[in-house]
Amino acid sequence: MAVDERELILELFPGTPFDLLPPGEVLYYREGEQVVIEEPPFRAVFEPVERPALPRPGVCEACGRLLGGAFARFFRVTPPGSRVVRYVLLCEDTEACRERARPEVLRRILRKGILP
Ligand SMILES: [Zn+2]
Repeated sequence: MAVDERELILELFPGTPFDLLPPGEVLYYREGEQVVIEEPPFRAVFEPVERPALPRPGVCEACGRLLGGAFARFFRVTPPGSRVVRYVLLCEDTEACRERARPEVLRRILRKGILP
């Protein structure tokens, strides 16, 4: 139901800001080394930050799991039209992370990547 409403709004008002749209389906996947979070038409690509890995365990921002350095990685994103670089700590294993992550949390991370 929410998806139909969302599509209708986007059809009528293509420039509707992210925050004003009802939630849609959030996609979270790996594209090579990069991590993509998408809620069409919004999309953010997170670039991996070079290792060395974390000196101590960290909590994945997407799924909330406490991860040792080898299982987590920092990713960075620069929102379009912005000079701010934002960092997010995510599981190295995106597939497994996606199983655990709640859409509203992924949406919050996506927001970091698209809003200046
Ligand atoms: Zn995770």
